[in-house]
Amino acid sequence: MRKVGIYYAFWTHEWDVDFVPFIKKVGKLGFDQLELNGGTIVHMKAQEQRDLKQLADDQGITLSYGIGLQKFFDVASLDETVRRCGLDFMKKMIDSVANMGGGMIGGTIHGYWPSTLPEELDSKESCWAQSIKSMKELAPYAGDHNVLLNVEVINRFEQFLVNDSHEALAYVQEVDHPSCRILLDTFHMNIEEDSFGDAIRRVGPYLAAFHLGETNRKTPGTGRIPWVEIKQALDDIGFDGPMVMEPFVMQGGQIGRDIGVWRDIVKDPDLDALASESAKFVRENLV
Ligand code: MN
Repeated sequence: MRKVGIYYAFWTHEWDVDFVPFIKKVGKLGFDQLELNGGTIVHMKAQEQRDLKQLADDQGITLSYGIGLQKFFDVASLDETVRRCGLDFMKKMIDSVANMGGGMIGGTIHGYWPSTLPEELDSKESCWAQSIKSMKELAPYAGDHNVLLNVEVINRFEQFLVNDSHEALAYVQEVDHPSCRILLDTFHMNIEEDSFGDAIRRVGPYLAAFHLGETNRKTPGTGRIPWVEIKQALDDIGFDGPMVMEPFVMQGGQIGRDIGVWRDIVKDPDLDALASESAKFVRENLV
């Protein structure tokens, strides 16, 4: 049974927040899983991390972790000092997640976010090579710590390394380690893929996690993403990973800025009701 999850940032304007209220309420809203900001977890004390994990266990909630690495932690940097800083940061995050019983870290873990090709370059080969070199070091480390690293396929306006399912497949096959897998996100797929179904079938067994969102990042079930086609493809590949919705409907704060929300996507939203209705939609149509 595919788990249904949600990213905590649906409710917040800032990345660094107290996760406790969200762990306490998402189960009641219909979710099995909550995705947290891995960057916040890293800076928590070991005991605080374990307390958070205990609370999630008590609520029956699985935790997963998302991150868009910052520029000074760019594991694809041509500057070896920056790349090493990125590796150290990622290893700290892996240590933190291991301390919380292990799990999945997904997102822009293969470069930084948001980013574009460095001015001095005409093509991305050198950055790609640096990223692969980093991941070949991080994946075994993750494997030793009961952590799975899921490279998220991000659209061209936010990242330049892995934009579609073809590139994602090439990337994980080059890393060639079972602890490096793929995260597809319907919001990004809508921009880059010729076909939702073909993209899912292309990455097949490498797909470890799936992000759900409409074309404008509203809650799943409220827009025009082809959910029937997606469900069929997930069934075709026997996908049994988590499906985590990642809606953003509020402007304001650092999150509104980073995500590019410049208007209230939903006027005066009742966020809990939207989340709950969407969880029901996902359970009825995608699980
Ligand atoms: Mn995503």
